[in-house]
Amino acid sequence: MNIQIVDGCNLRCKYCYVKEKENANNVMNIKDFKKILMNYALNLKNRKIFYGHIYFHDCEPLLAGLEYFKKIIKIEGEIYKKIGIKFKNYIVTNGTLINKKWAEFFLKTNFMVYISIDGFKDHHDYFRVFSDGSGSYLKTIDGYKILKEVGVPMGVSSTLTKINCRDVYKIGEFFAIDGIKLISFAFLLPDEKTKKYLPSADEHISVFKQLITLNKKFKNIVIYPLKTLINAMKGWFDCRFSGKPISYGIDINGNLYACHRSRDDEFLIGNYIEGWFDSDKFKKLMFRPTYLKTVGECKNCSVKNYCNGGCAYSAYTRYKNIFRKDPLCEIYKKAFLYLDTLTGGTLF
Ligand code: SF4
Ligand code: SF4
Repeated sequence: MNIQIVDGCNLRCKYCYVKEKENANNVMNIKDFKKILMNYALNLKNRKIFYGHIYFHDCEPLLAGLEYFKKIIKIEGEIYKKIGIKFKNYIVTNGTLINKKWAEFFLKTNFMVYISIDGFKDHHDYFRVFSDGSGSYLKTIDGYKILKEVGVPMGVSSTLTKINCRDVYKIGEFFAIDGIKLISFAFLLPDEKTKKYLPSADEHISVFKQLITLNKKFKNIVIYPLKTLINAMKGWFDCRFSGKPISYGIDINGNLYACHRSRDDEFLIGNYIEGWFDSDKFKKLMFRPTYLKTVGECKNCSVKNYCNGGCAYSAYTRYKNIFRKDPLCEIYKKAFLYLDTLTGGTLF
């Protein structure tokens, strides 16, 4: 479960999908957090699942403060004692607020930390800036070094853009040599604001070639989105290639969205504090890949059983209609066909 505990950020990244008006810097009421976590735990228990994964995601969760996180750990302990559900915590952060106290807390409480670094200084500072326009690279790298020094388990997450797409091998190699085992190059959400930064389909293919070379050199590291594409070809689908929004996110008011990136009514399926769930809307969202595979370009597409129409939120962002194919279609098609050539062209 992805949970947003803060609705603000200390950075103003140029490609960020959080709208300026949502940058309010409110922190979720800790009583609401407790209620949400208990409802989530009860839900897991009903399904005979005894382990919950919590991703502190969206905006900058560290703005909630260290004391807030200590309360979270206490609440998780209470829930475990009461109903036997254990939690594993993950956090996605821009790294600029990390100091030794945060790092020691993450180590002690077994957090996995994903730090957003878009590559080297020029790549990173082009997009990831403070509100005065200055680059955040040096602060982020300070945070990264502290986490490493303390020994916190971590991954690095970069957003793929025209600025860094030619250098993903060098970026990945740098972090792999530094001991990072999980490196992710996330697809950009294609909207009006970001389309000028979006690498072309051919540039994406060059990215996949670089990532394959990287994976050959560093066999023990996990590289996204290469793994996501390969998994889809094996029939293991993540949110994007299932065609359905199944990366659930809870916002600061307890609203449950089928896509953790979205705050649009189209994806709002319930509320964990008020205790309601809209099963009709949920069914409509889940129907998307079935529908897409019977109409338009997806119907006759050779990779449709691996792509399933792509990301519902990308489609909604571009066309305001979830029943359209993902605007990154050309990239996915070329990528799946390219990966197929590496397996001897046996899949399509
Ligand atoms: S619906 Fe799309 S944007 Fe949302 S989590 Fe899934 S893949 Fe990501
Ligand atoms: S690659 Fe394009 S046409 Fe093919 S299934 Fe995906 S979105 Fe549809």
